[in-house]
Amino acid sequence: MNTPEKIKCLIIGSGPAGFTAAIYAARADMSPVLYQGMQPGGQLTTTNEVENFPGYPQGISGPEMMVELETQAKRFDTDVRFGFINKVNFTGPIHKCWTEEGHEIHAETVIISTGASAKYLGLESEQKYLLNGGGVSACAVCDGFFYRGQEVVIVGAGDSACEEAHYLSKLCTKVTMLVRKDDFRASKIMADRVKKTENIIILYNTDTDEVLGDGNGVTGARVKNNVTGEITIIPCTGFFVAIGHTPNTDIFKGYIDLDETGYIKYAQPGTSKTNVAGVFVAGDAADKTYRQAITAAGTGCMAALDAERYLAALEH
Ligand code: NDP
Repeated sequence: MNTPEKIKCLIIGSGPAGFTAAIYAARADMSPVLYQGMQPGGQLTTTNEVENFPGYPQGISGPEMMVELETQAKRFDTDVRFGFINKVNFTGPIHKCWTEEGHEIHAETVIISTGASAKYLGLESEQKYLLNGGGVSACAVCDGFFYRGQEVVIVGAGDSACEEAHYLSKLCTKVTMLVRKDDFRASKIMADRVKKTENIIILYNTDTDEVLGDGNGVTGARVKNNVTGEITIIPCTGFFVAIGHTPNTDIFKGYIDLDETGYIKYAQPGTSKTNVAGVFVAGDAADKTYRQAITAAGTGCMAALDAERYLAALEH
């Protein structure tokens, strides 16, 4: 059996939360090891242009930003590794974690920055225009600005979809909202706000058949009324998917307190502490409200500072 590797700080996940935590932890001499996970760079790698991260007045592409963050983390000797952690045991004072290859790590502190994954419809055409940056997005706040003065479609009927539809209605000339049932799942107040907004057109009992495009970008959506069977084509240049997110927290079940939807619960509001001493959380794994690169980075900083203070208290 291999001897477990003993480290001061393990960071799980490589979005803005993970890399920011790494920059702070490395500069505090904690020699962090960061496992990149299944999607190195996280959700930003599926974003075209990031224009709202302070410090980039001309904007920067999501993948480019992640390379910059990684370079900055490595500059201070963060050990950035490919691969992912697929098992943990947080029952003792030392936090045990295993990679998918069975490598065992004993970490004094762990920063969870595994993020969340947007849910998609799963249509081939949707994935095509998502991956080529051609008009499919799961984040209106990130990408809505690119469609100002244009017509867009948004799928979903929860609070997120309502919030995003309302956000888009201020930028776009027309927002068509596709609701698959005959009513909203969102809270009444959110649904009412959408219903009262003039340039939001709601189509109930409506499924997406296909995202239409010209090869480079979205040109419309073909939708089907699931009661009458009627097919309609809606012209649009942006197709927004707001059907929920899944936090990437499965491996922590049983050790870390999660809410009913799987998001990690903060043990103490205003900190990054979880219910396990020495285990901290940053970014979307604990955030279903803001979900922004800048908020993830901010909580990444908090987690590294909390981890540093935890280690300092152990040493005294
Ligand atoms: P939800 O899970 O609440 O809603 C998802 C929506 O997407 C549902 O309306 C669902 O339809 C629809 N949907 C799911 N799959 C498909 C599909 N394949 N095709 C079409 N539609 C689909 O997710 P949210 O992200 O909206 O919210 C998550 C949590 O965050 C909730 O607790 C919410 O209250 C909270 N939140 C609160 C906010 C606030 O208070 N400001 C803002 C944003 C979120 P159906 O109803 O038919 O199942």
